[in-house]
Amino acid sequence: LKISIHKVDIPVAYGPAFEGERIRKDDMQIEIGGPGVPAFEFVCTKEADEVEDGKIQVIGPDLDDMPQGPGVSIGIVAEVTGRKMQPDFEPIFERQMHRFLGEAQGIFHMGQRDIIRHRISKDAFKAGLRLKHIGKIIHAKFHGEFGAIIDKVQVTLYTKKEDVEGKLKEVRAAFAERDARLGDMTDDSVNLFYSCTLCQSFAPSHVCIVTPERSGLCGSVSWLDGKAGYEINPTGPNQPIEKRKVIDDRLGQWDGTNEFLYSSSNRALEKVSLYSIMTDPMTSCGCFECISAMLPMANGIMVVDRDFTEMTPSGMKFSTMAGTVGGGLQTPGFMGHSKFYLGSKKFISADGGLARVVWMPKALKEELSEQLEKASKEMDLENFLDKIADETVAQTEEEVVEYMQKINHPALSMDPMF
Ligand code: SF4
Ligand code: ZN
Repeated sequence: LKISIHKVDIPVAYGPAFEGERIRKDDMQIEIGGPGVPAFEFVCTKEADEVEDGKIQVIGPDLDDMPQGPGVSIGIVAEVTGRKMQPDFEPIFERQMHRFLGEAQGIFHMGQRDIIRHRISKDAFKAGLRLKHIGKIIHAKFHGEFGAIIDKVQVTLYTKKEDVEGKLKEVRAAFAERDARLGDMTDDSVNLFYSCTLCQSFAPSHVCIVTPERSGLCGSVSWLDGKAGYEINPTGPNQPIEKRKVIDDRLGQWDGTNEFLYSSSNRALEKVSLYSIMTDPMTSCGCFECISAMLPMANGIMVVDRDFTEMTPSGMKFSTMAGTVGGGLQTPGFMGHSKFYLGSKKFISADGGLARVVWMPKALKEELSEQLEKASKEMDLENFLDKIADETVAQTEEEVVEYMQKINHPALSMDPMF
């Protein structure tokens, strides 16, 4: 393993000790992103002559000219070039920004892609930390850790809301293209899955097992990303997992996946079903895009994403549920997962699949309408999107059940969930 010797030249302390350091509301200078606030971070590959190494630009106001508090829109773009660089590596570098930025004292990094929520502390601001230092960290760490692949790095921070909104279209198209690269690959078509254990830094027993039909729960690590991650760093957090002998086809358990979970969860966990929320579900760290939760009366599940901050039919808000499922535990009946996984044929297929979904926020339904439409057609579920209740028709579990009866939701006639 190559040891990083690149010094990070910033006015605050820097090192692994600061990763995961919380910054309370009262102590924060600004919060970037969060529900309803356009913000993103994005790595893209450029031609050699398009990148000026070490160039850091802040386009728009810096911290001195921003009001204190939440609601700040920033788009962070890191453009890289290198003879060994491949676009397949972009998501890996992007995901590592979590650690790179989180290791600065006074920067709290949360999320990825276009659902970030970062904080910068008042103390760091007073010590002289400004937005250009975010660029400096990315530049230094990308060279330090990916020097074998990257030759040049430049970073641009867009801090005007209209610029961020404008750029978001491009960036989201790039994310969609990445997700589409997987094409028609299936779990059955491969012998290897990949692990991701990046989140063990704060959830020590958490292991994401990433397959063609199930991405990591943060939504930013697909099977191809796992493969690329292993190529970049063969001793890193993405390891190949040979499936080996099937233990249970329906649940999605193999000798190889169970053994991997056992050894890499520090023997905390023995079995994991890749396709069930009820039996040995996958662990959840804290970065899940969505949480699914069983609604016993409805004989189905509700799905909620991070942007929906109201009460849900489970009687809990997203934040409370996140506390229940997170931390690297298996919690039958609850599970964190990516948006991508919702549109997968393997989505809780052992428990009845997509047909179990009885409620989700309206905005999430709209965002995922294309992939849900496609998946429900493949499963012969007619007009299924209309059958999923949302907050405009049902806010409590009782109201969900009433709605299900009115529109004859398929989960009503399915086997009991437990
Ligand atoms: Fe990796 Fe899973 Fe963490 Fe995403 S949530 S970074 S896939 S361990
Ligand atoms: Zn995580």
